[in-house]
Amino acid sequence: MWRAVALTLFPEMFPGPLGESLAGKALKEGVWSLEAVDIRRFAKDRHGTVDDAPFGGGAGMVMKPDVLSAAIETVAEPGMPKVLLSPRGAPFSQARGRELAQGPGVVLVCGRFEGVDERVIEAQALEEISVGDFVLSGGEIAAMAVMDCCVRLLPGVMGEPASASEESFEDGLLEYPHYTRPASWTGADGIERRVPEVLVSGHHGKVAEWRIRQRQEITRRRRPDLWARRQAVKVNDEK
Ligand code: SAH
Repeated sequence: MWRAVALTLFPEMFPGPLGESLAGKALKEGVWSLEAVDIRRFAKDRHGTVDDAPFGGGAGMVMKPDVLSAAIETVAEPGMPKVLLSPRGAPFSQARGRELAQGPGVVLVCGRFEGVDERVIEAQALEEISVGDFVLSGGEIAAMAVMDCCVRLLPGVMGEPASASEESFEDGLLEYPHYTRPASWTGADGIERRVPEVLVSGHHGKVAEWRIRQRQEITRRRRPDLWARRQAVKVNDEK
């Protein structure tokens, strides 16, 4: 069973959205397990102190290394990746999600306040992961995003295994546009929009070709960074 452990000051936030839909069903079926462990349990004093003022001054509080370290040591099994959610971290990716999903699970340390004492990151060799170039008030929502990405990649969680391989980022491209019934639809702007003809043609080869072209076009226009990386990979492959 794939094991997710969140170390948090707000364990009641979990499973939250992960208790619903695909992830929730897989959780109930025992495809994965989720433990939300309260960091405060590991406080060393009777007040349950988990944070303190920063050395050198400045705004906010810093999570104490001794408390956090005790929490990590208690929950982490050998061989389990230990992640700290952090805006300074490496950008999270589908590729990293797939690797984590293939392993035994993950320990996700959710920061609060200004963040955590640098020494615990070093001593526990925490892998810092960011979910984007913006600042959240805590690591919990970021941890849920990482868990959700991993869980839907676990065997048996998604309905059709094929749907994963065609998704955005799997091969460095964004997804093609989707359409469903009705074939002709007039929106609030009064314009009638028809489904692209090729999709109702019944010609599978042409549909596949159209979709790959759409994926390339959309990626090139919206994410020149992904497109450039993909072109570079291709050139290398051809060498
Ligand atoms: N002072 C920090 C921000 C602290 S936000 C800075 O300037 O970088 C509090 C906590 O929220 C962080 O410790 C981290 O665990 C989480 N967090 C905030 N933004 C995040 C992001 N983009 N990705 C992952 N975690 C984030």
